[in-house]
Amino acid sequence: MENNYPITDLKGVGAELSKKLVFLNIRTISDLILNYPKRYEDYSFVQPINKISPGLVTIKAVIKQSSGRYVSRGLHITEAVASDDSGSVRLIWFNQPYRSNSFINQEEYYISGDFQLRRQRLSIQNPSIEPVSSFPINTARIIPKYKETKGLRSHHIRKLIGQTIPLIRKTQETLPDWLVSSLKLLDRNRAIEMMHFPSDASKLIEAKRRLGFEEIFELALAALLNKKELIGEHALNIAFDEKLAKQFVSHLPFKLTDAQRKTVWQIYMDMAKDYPMNRLVEGDVGSGKTVVATMAAVMAIKQDFQVVLMAPTELLARQHAQSVEKLLSPLGLAGSLTLLVGSLTSKQKDLAYKNIKNGKVKFIVGTQAVFQEKVDMKNLGLIIIDEQHRFGVEQRKRLQAKAGHMPHVLHLTATPIPRSLALTLYGELDVSIIDTKPAGRKEIITKICSPNSKKQLYQTIDKQLELGYQMFVVCPLISDSDLLNANSAEKIFEELSTGPFKHRRVGLLHGKMKSYDKEKIMKQFVDHKLDILVATTVVEVGVDVPNATIMLIENAERFGLAQIHQLRGRVGRNDVQGYCYLMMGDSAQPSRRIRAIERSNNGFDLAELDLEIRGPGAIYGTTQHGQLDLRVARLTDIKLITSARNAARIFIEQGDSLLQYKELNRRVTALRSVTNLN
Ligand code: ADP
Ligand code: MG
Repeated sequence: MENNYPITDLKGVGAELSKKLVFLNIRTISDLILNYPKRYEDYSFVQPINKISPGLVTIKAVIKQSSGRYVSRGLHITEAVASDDSGSVRLIWFNQPYRSNSFINQEEYYISGDFQLRRQRLSIQNPSIEPVSSFPINTARIIPKYKETKGLRSHHIRKLIGQTIPLIRKTQETLPDWLVSSLKLLDRNRAIEMMHFPSDASKLIEAKRRLGFEEIFELALAALLNKKELIGEHALNIAFDEKLAKQFVSHLPFKLTDAQRKTVWQIYMDMAKDYPMNRLVEGDVGSGKTVVATMAAVMAIKQDFQVVLMAPTELLARQHAQSVEKLLSPLGLAGSLTLLVGSLTSKQKDLAYKNIKNGKVKFIVGTQAVFQEKVDMKNLGLIIIDEQHRFGVEQRKRLQAKAGHMPHVLHLTATPIPRSLALTLYGELDVSIIDTKPAGRKEIITKICSPNSKKQLYQTIDKQLELGYQMFVVCPLISDSDLLNANSAEKIFEELSTGPFKHRRVGLLHGKMKSYDKEKIMKQFVDHKLDILVATTVVEVGVDVPNATIMLIENAERFGLAQIHQLRGRVGRNDVQGYCYLMMGDSAQPSRRIRAIERSNNGFDLAELDLEIRGPGAIYGTTQHGQLDLRVARLTDIKLITSARNAARIFIEQGDSLLQYKELNRRVTALRSVTNLN
């Protein structure tokens, strides 16, 4: 029996049971084996009967005098007496009539269960029992608790996994021997067995360490191999021109923050090398990434290279084009910029293509889709990717084929991935963090609100609108849904524009609108022809309307932590006080997440907390990832991450070839296409 055989190969697994197992994503024996417990209950302490006290207990005893009866309709009770040298204790099972005839005389059993007072008598209730002579899976040990589903409880799953122990013991090692021995890791087979049936608490810790290590090691190795390959590539170097940098800065209406300056410096150094830059700039919303990216672009343009800036949406591409143009014009470079988005007329597009081809245009701002079509670049030097998680090895190689060389790549993101994590997940990227906001910014005031305080809230808000500020209202749905009990943008738009804000100019923006209409509405809001913009999360990333100071999020409980934090970043972008109101749905209670957002404005702290709350595997802002499914490693375990990354580095430095480790090679190869901000 092989591990990747269907689960129905196990004894007792028929169509019925296998359907239930599919609910838990268990289709093969391997899935079952790798379905690690969610938690454990410690029944490992075996005590003499006269020493047990109320709570979870385990005894080792013989069982006598069992009898079963119905005490009322639907309630069956089985009673028995368990005895050891020190004394006797009553056992009771409810609605398990098969129990009464199941004990073998004189056989010694482990009995684990809850020792409790019931009708003034102490008894062990619903205990699990197993012969001492067997390999116990439900008693006398640390008992695994699995994710359960209807009709499939942990003890069923334990029984199935119990069957696979011979297979688990034959599991092949995947890590190099030198690594296992130098780090004193458990062997793979041993670790997997100890995850399910730990012989003691310390072995469980060791098992988690080993398996968590392996997960991070594989990720780190994939990332380092990608990086190694990248360093072997040739790029056109873009020399650092100090005078130009100074000139650019001298025209800015503000002073760069230290974090911005440091980041720009790192980028300049990267671009001056003759292998491609692959840098991630992480900076909370409003931390000023655009100016940093533009400074990189200017250096390239001035040396006759072309630069592409890709945004995830047309809306953002347009905004970027505007802000970049403003930054370029003092240097007389505004004419070298073009916008390239789907809604341009074909005449406009053709002109753009022509000017890109003949090199008149040096800076192309657009969306990825458009860019991939028929753009024929003369001398692509730098690509800047804003908020896009889908730009990895594949995309880069495609560009390389097109341009004939590998361009420098700069990624910008407002998803504050903790540094340790970023380095592991995206180890082939160099990471710059802009962790300070421009001076003078006020902390946004965030408040959780309940629906019955709406009227009062609207009055408070109206005072702000009266002062000439604007408000975003974000809803989880476009239109009302029968399935979800949540406020839709259409409904709220209707309500606000005919009710409390009928004297204000209210607009509606959502993802199903035509591109052209979206632009129109957004432009009206930017130009302050609207006071209130009711929208879905299309406004999520990057939109810059400095005059908007209020963000009202409807059904806040329906949004993720990262999402709310991003939305909140839409307001408080100048030195005026910003407000974020988290309106809860009718019967919703604020979760720990929502409370954390109310308390903290720091994206990095929130990201850490999100990891804590979501447990192993959950990667902030990358929930669609799927492939990065960490089962054991905790991403907050810096020590583990550091040691796994070091090991990966040593592996590569000492020239160990992956090819000799078949399984490791298979996994790392698969991860290599995933770890690249895909
Ligand atoms: P994000 O990092 O979210 O992309 P932006 O680049 O859009 O942020 O910058 C947000 C706003 O802050 C812009 O209006 C920009 O002009 C302004 N800004 C950027 N850097 C500074 C700075 N050092 N001091 C003051 N304002 C700045
Ligand atoms: Mg931005």
